[in-house]
Amino acid sequence: MNPIRLTRDVLTPIGKGLGVTISHLGKMLGTRGRAKFTVEYPEERREQFPRTRWRHYLTRYENGLEKCIGCSLCAGACPARCIYVEAADNTDHARFSPGERYAARYEINMLRCVFCGYCQEACPTGAIVLRKEFELADYDRKDFLYTKQMLLEPIPIRPRQVRASDEAPKAAPRSEAA
Ligand code: SF4
Ligand code: SF4
Repeated sequence: MNPIRLTRDVLTPIGKGLGVTISHLGKMLGTRGRAKFTVEYPEERREQFPRTRWRHYLTRYENGLEKCIGCSLCAGACPARCIYVEAADNTDHARFSPGERYAARYEINMLRCVFCGYCQEACPTGAIVLRKEFELADYDRKDFLYTKQMLLEPIPIRPRQVRASDEAPKAAPRSEAA
């Protein structure tokens, strides 16, 4: 082969390719020991992005009433059709939410959920929210059917209740005989 063509068509491209490889290798070695790409999960955890969407929760108002009014808008917005809502009327004797109705049954099939957040967007009362809990693995299919009991937040403890319950019992007066 003509030496000019050999240099232009073979040696120059090989040289360029090697140059790119060496420059990347240099960058990688240069950052070694400084940039950390792995974390020691589960002891260490990466901070999640603010809008991360994982496990669902049904939230309550501060007075303990459920925010969900059983309107099923979340179920209608869900592209995976994995929400089931059965509404019932509140009565003067049994009130669960401030509205006329509440969700007597609320279920999410987490195996079908794609964590799009449309249910959260559609909810008029902010009842259903997706939070950052991502460890949702389980062993049995039936355990992925999240019921209302599993989704509903506990009733908030009011500061007054905390003070009353946290109050330390008074020490018994010392016996003179001791
Ligand atoms: S996050 Fe999306 S897929 Fe999952 S329940 Fe909500 S609407 Fe359905
Ligand atoms: S979670 Fe929101 S959208 Fe879904 S039924 Fe309850 S109130 Fe309606």
